[in-house]
Amino acid sequence: MTGAPVVELRGAGLRYPGPPAVTALSDCDLTVARGEFLTVTGPSGSGKSSFLNLVGLLDVPTSGCCLFDGIDTRGLRDRERAALRGRRIGFVFQSFHLLPRRTALENVALALLYTGVPQRERAARAARTLKRVGLGHRAGATPARLSGGERQRVAIARALVGRPDLLLCDEPTGNLDSVSAGVVLELLAELHADGMTVVLITHDPAVAARGTRTAVLRDGRLLPAEPGGPGSGGSGSRGGGTG
Ligand code: ADP
Ligand code: MG
Repeated sequence: MTGAPVVELRGAGLRYPGPPAVTALSDCDLTVARGEFLTVTGPSGSGKSSFLNLVGLLDVPTSGCCLFDGIDTRGLRDRERAALRGRRIGFVFQSFHLLPRRTALENVALALLYTGVPQRERAARAARTLKRVGLGHRAGATPARLSGGERQRVAIARALVGRPDLLLCDEPTGNLDSVSAGVVLELLAELHADGMTVVLITHDPAVAARGTRTAVLRDGRLLPAEPGGPGSGGSGSRGGGTG
């Protein structure tokens, strides 16, 4: 860990070669400071998945640059980028991606398999992390025995167990009922309060409002931030000055 921001996009663009070629992101400037809870939102096709791919080190910008902890991702080989991703980023997806025949504890511990943590310690750390997400009592259950909200909390524990710099969540409540979604969002807020850097991507404005800052994508561009956040109605520009 350095003093650098966790993520920095500088004029970053992403163009898929096609054919036909598609420019999915253009000229994006964004800094994610350590400890921030940033939400990123926008309608379908606005570039959210492409943004996830850049920030999650799954892809590199085709223009501008993307720095992770000060490291320019364009200067890395694929294998180096994958190693950085594996060590520093915890991913949470809409559809959980848990192994169905493994217990909650095993699902979490398996995330430490290639990290050099000894086997004994892997189980102990997985158990502690499951406790952290409120599922210490469900460690022995397989995913089929867990509710949707519990599955997503196991997935969050799996993302956290390697002590990443960044928790990157892609529509984490997209498959959940509103009560479970509330529990998961509350957990993310707690993790943020404990110091975790969280980036959450969602098409849902109500979910986006849970971040301490929201970036809005429109046609592959990040909209300038508005005081009071998106949807504040631009009240500063209405009324006054007439008579
Ligand atoms: P969102 O996740 O907000 O729906 P995406 O990042 O998936 O947006 O897509 C942004 C744009 O890039 C869309 O026009 C989409 O059709 C296009 N796109 C996404 N992935 C690819 C790809 N692999 N090849 C070509 N075009 C793509
Ligand atoms: Mg998408």
